[in-house]
Amino acid sequence: MANPIKMNMRYLARMGIITDLDKCIAFLRKHRLLASRMDCQGCGSIMTEERTSSTADGLRWRCHDSKCRTTATIRKNSFFEKSNLGLIQLVILTYYWASRTPQRRISFEAEISKRAIVDWANFLREICSADLIDRKGPIGGPNSEIAADESVVARRKAGNRQGRPVKAVWIYGAVDLVSKEAFVELVPESGRTTENLKEITLRNVRAGTTIRTDAFSSYRSLSDWGGMGYKHRVINHSLHYVDPVTLFHTNDIESFWRQAKELLKLQNGVSRRLIPSYLDQFLWSRMYPKEDHFMRILEAIAANPKYYMGSEV
Ligand SMILES: [Zn+2]
Repeated sequence: MANPIKMNMRYLARMGIITDLDKCIAFLRKHRLLASRMDCQGCGSIMTEERTSSTADGLRWRCHDSKCRTTATIRKNSFFEKSNLGLIQLVILTYYWASRTPQRRISFEAEISKRAIVDWANFLREICSADLIDRKGPIGGPNSEIAADESVVARRKAGNRQGRPVKAVWIYGAVDLVSKEAFVELVPESGRTTENLKEITLRNVRAGTTIRTDAFSSYRSLSDWGGMGYKHRVINHSLHYVDPVTLFHTNDIESFWRQAKELLKLQNGVSRRLIPSYLDQFLWSRMYPKEDHFMRILEAIAANPKYYMGSEV
């Protein structure tokens, strides 16, 4: 399944994908990101393509029925219809997003406004969330052990710029010690109470799972949660602890949190409302090796029912 081609900037430039608009369009069509044929909305005839200077894409669809003559943009029904940026710019933007380039840097390299970069990144994270729905399921099981933990993502001191104290923002998740399957969610504003951690756990962890946590009081009743038969193992966090059976290191969960929060740190001050989508991007990205993220996000767009371009190429 792994892509044998190194889909890096050099490759995109060498193939003309980011230097020649026609080649860019051909690339997007090949990957079913733009339609290769279009039916006229007015009369149902098959439309043909024509050159135009009226759009930046240089091409449009035209109905040849002499009474109809309807035109349509080549982006019609596609994911790219969401933006006014050029197609080449959007390919470059998607590439940088996939390689986790900070927004400031993308803005400099691609000469695109921060606002447009933020919008496109939001659209791409929606794709991640949609793509995850089919793959996300509860983790663990009677023969599994998971490490659960909470982590704070923002805790500004009282009296910040607006003079209002900002409450701690917590995320909560777990990693399977062997399969490395994981979930992570934003904790409701009421904080890491037993009720909140329990509700998230019941939705994300299968019955009979052994759950490892630290000695935090909210976990005290964990083995009774929801009649799920969870087995609770309380571990006193130690940086040097290695599980003798699974060889799972405390550092593994620490690195899970570091990676989850890395994305949030790349953006200065992600609003609470957007955190779930960043966590989805994180969960999505850890399914694939880093170098595949660009092609994988293009595949996820093509597979999204909203932007389905048909199976023909
Ligand atoms: Zn027509």
